Amino acid sequence: MRGLAVFLAVLVVLPALASAEQAWPGEPIDNHVHMSWAALTLEVNEWADDYPEIVDLADIGDSELGKTLWVVRISDWSMETKENGEAKEIVYIDGGHHGNEYLGTSLAWLSAKWYINGWNDGNEEAVRVLQNSEIHVLIMLNPDGNDIDTRWNINQVDLNRNYDHYWNTCPTTQPGSSAFSESETSSNSNYMNTVVPDADLYVTMHTGVWIMLYPWGKWPEQPADWELFHGIRDEVQANISEIPIQNANQGLYPNCGTSRDYGYGVMGFPTFTFETDDEQFVPGSFESLDERLEEEMDVMRYLIDNVWYWRARLVLDAFTLDDDEVTFTVSNLGHASTRNATLQYVNGDDILWQSSNFTANASGSTTVTSSGFDYKGGEWRLSYQKRVINSSTWVNESVDVGDYEVGFLAQSLATMVWALQIGAIPLVVICFSFWWSREEKPFTMDEEIPLDAELID
Ligand SMILES: [Zn+2]
Repeated sequence: MRGLAVFLAVLVVLPALASAEQAWPGEPIDNHVHMSWAALTLEVNEWADDYPEIVDLADIGDSELGKTLWVVRISDWSMETKENGEAKEIVYIDGGHHGNEYLGTSLAWLSAKWYINGWNDGNEEAVRVLQNSEIHVLIMLNPDGNDIDTRWNINQVDLNRNYDHYWNTCPTTQPGSSAFSESETSSNSNYMNTVVPDADLYVTMHTGVWIMLYPWGKWPEQPADWELFHGIRDEVQANISEIPIQNANQGLYPNCGTSRDYGYGVMGFPTFTFETDDEQFVPGSFESLDERLEEEMDVMRYLIDNVWYWRARLVLDAFTLDDDEVTFTVSNLGHASTRNATLQYVNGDDILWQSSNFTANASGSTTVTSSGFDYKGGEWRLSYQKRVINSSTWVNESVDVGDYEVGFLAQSLATMVWALQIGAIPLVVICFSFWWSREEKPFTMDEEIPLDAELID
């Protein structure tokens, strides 16, 4: 009966929604305004029709009952890359794992709508973000559960326990028959693996206690990239919001098979679960929702605007070659550390030489000396993982080391060829030039949270 009531309500409300551009696509149910999948579908298609220059809508699969899972992709699509030719940063957001968590779902909706409105208003921050990054938002992952106002999907599975990361290894309820047994979670992980595997931020939005949770849910220990998570926590709490930010296992309770632990442990994304409070009256317009979730959006805007920093970013500061010994200094401009980095000399896919492995701490600099270099005809690159976690993406980034000496034998030959070419140079000059050129020439380039009996997260 309730399903029928919802359906009728949608029929009544839809025409009114279609005409009100700024309206939250909601409908009144019980004591709150609740976004239906039907209204959402209408709205996201309107976004794509009205703003094709920044909105690209993707159908990434179906719910168990066949409702389309929409991902809204927002960027300045007139530019495939940033203005400087570098790849745009990728942000991935999902909402609505749990069908009765409207406020978390509306934070996902707002995270898309804020940038669309901002772009249209010429807001400097929104324009900057959309020129330099792609924001992918799956607003409602569980439309079947949403339509019947329940946490679970239609098969009574808790979708946020159904991911393939230590699936069903915690005391938990209804994780499904196997990891990714549900079409909603398998579609989500497929999208992560095929479209946004290089994301440098993943935020999954829920409703419960007001908190942000970083990995792990499975273990009480801090994650390998604790430095990155603690840095974000400290900056948010100092400048933006006093929202608690904790390891999920300690901040909430042990939980396994979550999209957060999967996003970090398997995909290597810096991942947060963003829990809004559970005062779930959701107001009915963009303006009022923007105000209701202003503090949460301030945190999201900070995370998105600074996405460039959420990985290691190595740059070569100095390089010298003395005989076969390479000495170089690398700075890490990012806020994540990396281990097992190397400076490599490559010819295509062949690694001719590489330095010893080194660690580059977040915002730090390190100097490395490695011997055994005697090669020509290659190119230099830095090879490293974007974060410490094993699953994080490897990057190979070309570096320009400038001019450098290429070793004793080659230098001697070059000097002799030069002497023969110009002829009649006294031997002493050859010797002098030889010794002079052997000199090293440095190269410089310019709390504790009470456990709630209710299931949240
Ligand atoms: Zn939830």
